[in-house]
This record gives sequence, structure tokens and C-alpha cells, in this order.
Amino acid sequence: MAGALTKTTTEQRDLAVIEVQTRMVACDGGGGPLGHPLTYYEIGSDGTAVCGYCSKKFILAQNA
Ligand SMILES: [Zn+2]
Repeated sequence: MAGALTKTTTEQRDLAVIEVQTRMVACDGGGGPLGHPLTYYEIGSDGTAVCGYCSKKFILAQNA
């Protein structure tokens, strides 16, 4: 899965925690007025990453 990436969707904009299937995630806050510049994060060794802009938390799915 080279280049595998999870990007937040509009539907996930209001969620505080997002379960992802890939170690690379991209967050732009869901776009619109609540959005922020597209920023990439890598899931850390603890299995989570937190967006520095909107504080959304990404958790790597257990089956990923
Ligand atoms: Zn964000």
C-alpha cells in the first residue's frame, strides 16, 4: 500500500477521534470555515497522532 493515506472527510469534521487504517494521515479540518491548511501526520509508536490545528485525534485501527 505505497502512499497509503487517510484524509479526513467532511463527515469526520465534528468527530474528536478518528480511527484510521493507515499510518499516514492528512488533516485539513474537514474544509470550509472550520478548516486549516492541509497538514500531514504520521501515527506514532503509541498508535495515535493529534492534529496541531484542530486537536483531532487519529487512532490506528487495531486490524490495520
Ligand atoms: Zn486538523
